[in-house]
Amino acid sequence: MKEFTPVDIQVQNDQHLVAITWADGHISRLPITRLRGYCPCAECQGHQRIVRFHENRVQTISGADLVGRYAVSFRFSDNHALGIFRFDILRKLDQSEELRWGVPEESLVSGRAEHV
Ligand SMILES: [Zn+2]
Repeated sequence: MKEFTPVDIQVQNDQHLVAITWADGHISRLPITRLRGYCPCAECQGHQRIVRFHENRVQTISGADLVGRYAVSFRFSDNHALGIFRFDILRKLDQSEELRWGVPEESLVSGRAEHV
């Protein structure tokens, strides 16, 4: 699954994005506002099989940690740090590939995104 395997992850706060280079060569540039808005934690998304975007003004990240070999957790500038962003979720948040994955409201619905 090269498309879900990052080889480089860079938080670029000056550009308000996270740049991820994937093993298939694609580079995703994910606006931090988009990441924060689609934070997958239960506090943000509830426990239903629905994914929603939450409007926000968060444009920087103060910390990022790998979670095992499958995910990254970000600490956003509003101090929210509960979200575990699986690599497949990060890839599917790439708006430049929306034709490939569909919109996050469809592609990230729990149960569908778990097969990686
Ligand atoms: Zn959250």
